[in-house]
Amino acid sequence: MALRNLVLENDPLIRKVSRPVDEITPRILKLLDDMADTMYYEDRGIGLAAPQVGVLRRIFVIDVGDEHGLIEFINPEIIESDGSQVGSEGCLSVPGKTCEVDRPSHVVCKALNRDGEEFTIEATGLLARCICHEYDHLDGILFIDKSVDGNIYRIQEDD
Ligand code: ZN
Repeated sequence: MALRNLVLENDPLIRKVSRPVDEITPRILKLLDDMADTMYYEDRGIGLAAPQVGVLRRIFVIDVGDEHGLIEFINPEIIESDGSQVGSEGCLSVPGKTCEVDRPSHVVCKALNRDGEEFTIEATGLLARCICHEYDHLDGILFIDKSVDGNIYRIQEDD
């Protein structure tokens, strides 16, 4: 298991646009493994994008605790999105903060898996929200940019 350091909201790196992966090298596979380790290590981590560990590549991992388990996305594209759901979000790169964000209630996302094979996933609810949140990271966008009412709330740290 290898953990990577998280890039936080005040680091300019988190605002950069990530580049597509052109070849799935052993280095990319190690990155995927480390990202999953880092996500599971962090309390409340259900998704993590590569720029959050300082790698400006279009990759994210998600596990919202549903039947899909861990899903790895390389060069993802959201090919369909519709509906609307407002709900609170948080982010490992924005510790201690939350706000309400309006996301599509249904998305279809296409990506490559670690074997370089294309897959398509249809998502609703939390998984759709998480895909949109992680996808935004690849373009340097944070959930706090999208607060529905402009308010950002502090979370009480309860440990
Ligand atoms: Zn995030």
